[in-house]
Amino acid sequence: NSVGVDAGGTLIKIAYRNDQQELSFEKFPVSEIAMAAAWIQEHFAGAEICVTGGKAKQLHDLLNRPIRTLVEFDATCNGVQYLMDMQKLSDEPFVLTNVGTGTSIHFVDKQKHHRLGGIGVGGGTLMGLSFLLTGIQNYAEIVEVSRQGNRKFIDLKVSDIYEGMVPPIPGDLTASNFGNVLQHQTTRQNSDILASVIGLVGETITTISVQAATQNGASSIVYIGSSFIGNDVLRDTVVNYTVLRGAVPTVLRNGEYSGAIGALMS
Ligand code: ATP
Ligand code: MG
Repeated sequence: NSVGVDAGGTLIKIAYRNDQQELSFEKFPVSEIAMAAAWIQEHFAGAEICVTGGKAKQLHDLLNRPIRTLVEFDATCNGVQYLMDMQKLSDEPFVLTNVGTGTSIHFVDKQKHHRLGGIGVGGGTLMGLSFLLTGIQNYAEIVEVSRQGNRKFIDLKVSDIYEGMVPPIPGDLTASNFGNVLQHQTTRQNSDILASVIGLVGETITTISVQAATQNGASSIVYIGSSFIGNDVLRDTVVNYTVLRGAVPTVLRNGEYSGAIGALMS
């Protein structure tokens, strides 16, 4: 009986096996880390606890019993391998992009993995920019409102610049995120702004992921992280933009629990 925890910058993810031995999950916001610790104490009194992520020490201090800690990237990549095996996805080498609070990019081959880099644009950017521009700070509300949004008066496509000409690169590529704002000075809908914020985040992480894949001879990109939870606008942006850029995208089911699963299996 054991439990795996990924205590990230925004959310604490927990993986364990239930009485039927099925893989099960739980999550808590980091602002409720004390509640997460209490939940673990209550449900896993005698169990081994394996923790990964940047808030591992903070959680350990609250748990007040021995824990095992694991390097976040090892846990995440192992959890991803497990999920991909379970979901019978191809085991060709791929680029793994973890869109958490920030974004981390890895190269994953059958037996090995290494971190390629990362960027500060991620789920935290989505939350922060959305709040600054619209005053909305509830994640579910941001996602819901963005669904009705239209990016065309905020963002500039290549085809907008190459008006009436055949552009040298696909016209549907974004030439400039938020680059159309000054040309269209009208009152703006929150929905349009939020759609463009998600577009900016999605296209930025896609662009560096595709470049990382190209540079490392991989054609497939696997996306994980809680930023995709219930967020079909981000999901669609990333999937469509990855295809437009010539790579093969997968948004891994339960991928946000990869770190916790890797910790559990370790
Ligand atoms: P990191 O790995 O960078 O330390 P993390 O592991 O906490 O951070 P994730 O849990 O993968 O990051 O993703 C956090 C992001 O998921 C948030 O920034 C937000 O965009 C999104 N998100 C999804 N559900 C929620 C929620 N209920 N509350 C807040 N953010 C959420
Ligand atoms: Mg994380």
